[in-house]
Amino acid sequence: MSLPTTLGEALALARGRVPVSEARLLLREASGERAATIVGFPERQLGEAAALRFVDWLTRREAGEPVAYLLGEREFYGRVFSVSPAVLIPRPDTELLVEQALLHLPEGSPRVLDLGTGSGAIAITIALEAPHADVSAVDISAAALDVARSNAARLGTSVRWLEGAWCAPVQGEVFDLIASNPPYVAEEDPHLAQGDVRFEPPGALASGPDGLNDIRTITAEARGCLKPGGWLLFEHGYDQGDAVRTLLAAAGFIDCATLKDLGGNDRVSFGRWPV
Ligand code: GLN
Repeated sequence: MSLPTTLGEALALARGRVPVSEARLLLREASGERAATIVGFPERQLGEAAALRFVDWLTRREAGEPVAYLLGEREFYGRVFSVSPAVLIPRPDTELLVEQALLHLPEGSPRVLDLGTGSGAIAITIALEAPHADVSAVDISAAALDVARSNAARLGTSVRWLEGAWCAPVQGEVFDLIASNPPYVAEEDPHLAQGDVRFEPPGALASGPDGLNDIRTITAEARGCLKPGGWLLFEHGYDQGDAVRTLLAAAGFIDCATLKDLGGNDRVSFGRWPV
């Protein structure tokens, strides 16, 4: 592939290989030029380092690598989070989980726990949006916690990071609210072999034959880690709302409900540990 020497040549090189919007974004990040320049000044020179970076990203994107991993970042809830292949890429759907967590926080200085924090997007956003909250976050992956820690430092907040399996690192503690976006895709779901998810950590996506293994485990464990009246909130698959509410109710949770994401799909379910 010959190296493009102008913005216009770079976009021409990408034509038909990746969507135009992605080509523009990659070129913007590779060149440091503004979006309007990318579109309006095709004759603008592109330096060799920027051209090399763009061609590398273009080739890798064409082979399927997610844009967020190429750029090393993704926006979530209005803030930019660093991401690496050690963590799931934050999704807009998960903003509903954060929004609901914030709505269910009691007054005072509530203790909040995020289970399976990955990039830290949920824990850090709650800590920044509710500065009165005392936020802890667990992940089984040390590499994920490194990403989360650097995000917290860069975004200027503090979260207590704990390594381990679900509630194991917080044995003996109780929280006002537990939020989790656990793996919830069924193991055999063909969607795991398509698109961006092929490059994401499998342990963050798949959870047993019906996708509910981890939600079952967390529901059972969370009962011992919630204050009376505390809330447990899950993100889950579009077809799992009924199943998750049933699981929560069977475990003794009350006031169980499911909410839809912006796409109109069941996405978040929650229940309250009785007083
Ligand atoms: N929503 C993601 C997907 O369908 C799955 C995220 C998760 O398992 N927590 O790709």
